[in-house]
Amino acid sequence: MFIWLGKRLIVYTSVMTSDQRIAGIELGGTKVICGIATAAGEVLQRTRIPTRGPEETLLDIRNWLQPRLDVASGLGIASFGPIHVDPASPRYGHIGATPKTAWRDFDLLRAIREWTTLPSALDTDVNAAALAEIRWGAAHGHDNVVYVTVGTGIGGGIVANGRAVHGLMHPEIGHMKPRRLPDDDFDGMCPFHGDCFEGLAAGPAIRARWGKPLNELPADHPAFAMEADYLGQLAVNLLLTASPTKLIFGGGVMNTTELLPMIRNAAARHLNDYLDLTDPAGEPRELIVTPGLESNAGLLGAVALAIDAS
Ligand code: ZN
Repeated sequence: MFIWLGKRLIVYTSVMTSDQRIAGIELGGTKVICGIATAAGEVLQRTRIPTRGPEETLLDIRNWLQPRLDVASGLGIASFGPIHVDPASPRYGHIGATPKTAWRDFDLLRAIREWTTLPSALDTDVNAAALAEIRWGAAHGHDNVVYVTVGTGIGGGIVANGRAVHGLMHPEIGHMKPRRLPDDDFDGMCPFHGDCFEGLAAGPAIRARWGKPLNELPADHPAFAMEADYLGQLAVNLLLTASPTKLIFGGGVMNTTELLPMIRNAAARHLNDYLDLTDPAGEPRELIVTPGLESNAGLLGAVALAIDAS
């Protein structure tokens, strides 16, 4: 756990037992999930709150969570990004340059610490989800993992050698640029970059191109091949930079189950046998997978943050 006291950063460790209760907040762009879970990853209570402006959303979070905090020994906060995650920064816990203008520069951590003094830990929703998938889900036992979510945006968390990657800020993999498909003249929807991965392949881009979300289109519709190609390129970029042994694709767009094998095929095509994708026994690795924790990945990610910080 880290506690910031003026100019001194005090670091100490403690051990959490599996039956201890942890509170978690997953702050997403359209919804907030709040819950209480055990330190073993069992969700005991949860609720869903629509994300609106910061004041009204935080009031709803407080009204639900505060009466339940007596049993909790820690609080994890997994937030949409960008968010300042360096505890040594004066802007720690502030939302960054989000397209959601009402939240821009909002001091999320202070707003929560106004009503609880529980030890708290904070990271991006996707870094947190990667940690939860390692602890309890599809990446159990792996130390180098990337968690990608493809929904209203494209985000990604990277865990390297067991630790979530922070640095200049935190990974924002959705804003890397793909190689354009030759027949794709769509401008892209990212307000910052136009045709980054998020601008070309997130849910709103699919709907704007084709008039419907992917799960309402037939599997032989050209939308699938295009989406799989861009996400396959994203997978290759991540395999070649972060070198994960599990690359998890989640989010609403991935609920269309035909997509995952198409992404695997597109990634293999773009890699062109450059990487050895077999395990030490010579068997093919199950490298690109869907989340093991499904709708609890974000909430349990928040819980994992609090456990890791204790
Ligand atoms: Zn972008």
